[in-house]
Amino acid sequence: MDVDEQHEEPTRAPEPHDIIWFSDGNVVIKTDAYLFKVHKGVLSMHSTVFKDMFELPNVGNPVDEDITGEKTQDLYDGLPVVALMGDEGEHVVHLLRAIYELRYHDFNSDEAALGTIVALLTLGTKYGFEEIRANVITQISRQFPNSLSEYDSKDFDWYYDIFGDDHFDSRFELLRVAYKTDAQALLPTLYFACSTYEVQYIVEVLRHNFSSGCTETLVTGREKLIQAINDLSWDIPEYVRAGIENSKCSAESHCLEKYRNVRLSTLGCEVDLRCTKGSKVVDEELASICSRCRSFVERAIEKKRKIVWKKIPSFFK
Ligand SMILES: [Zn+2]
Repeated sequence: MDVDEQHEEPTRAPEPHDIIWFSDGNVVIKTDAYLFKVHKGVLSMHSTVFKDMFELPNVGNPVDEDITGEKTQDLYDGLPVVALMGDEGEHVVHLLRAIYELRYHDFNSDEAALGTIVALLTLGTKYGFEEIRANVITQISRQFPNSLSEYDSKDFDWYYDIFGDDHFDSRFELLRVAYKTDAQALLPTLYFACSTYEVQYIVEVLRHNFSSGCTETLVTGREKLIQAINDLSWDIPEYVRAGIENSKCSAESHCLEKYRNVRLSTLGCEVDLRCTKGSKVVDEELASICSRCRSFVERAIEKKRKIVWKKIPSFFK
């Protein structure tokens, strides 16, 4: 939609939320869209930020102070109001429901909605819900391979949907949020997952809502990844030659001929480390070398791939 065609919604006062409105609540949380009547004790139990805030004199008491520290006299039904600044109402719904309803969000599920995941990481970080933040980081990390064998063994397309959302959109959204919330445990994995797309798609998506630091790390890390995979590919003929010398080759003239004619240009791996898998390279490029050379070459390639795999996080620093 063109900006010109957008019409501003008339500003509406936030309304009590249908679900998160407990008759015995003792504080009202306010966002731009909703009011939530909740319990100071429950929020304090989960959140260091709310705990500290409620412990301050006059905060969360009838003469109130909002989260930015501004003095306010805001009351609702005689209860103190804490205004959350700059948070989406729906994000706060996800957070509060996750706290109050045991079954609302399953941290062990791969079927959770991306919107909930993003809300929990964003607000869990902002308001110091430490356990929620840690759990959701683990939940996100489980969506991605964390070892080379897991990366290789996935027999599905590497481009699978994540948390019910398109693989491309979800990966970049998770990267954006992980960067914003400084989720260091996730960043290398997400940079790697996002680097697997062609650079024109990456540049296009990064134009929107991504910080320049995040963009630069992704693009330069992707270049380092390509370089490492290229280096690995170009070393393959050397492995064949070493194989002939070291593995008691049983068909030397044949294997030598293969070594001279190996066509690495057809590998076309670019950012795909799986493309260099030893058994795959031998099957496709060196199918008829003798079994001794074959096993030597496969092992040599795999050894090198493990080194590249371990280095991947360092490409995205
Ligand atoms: Zn041989």
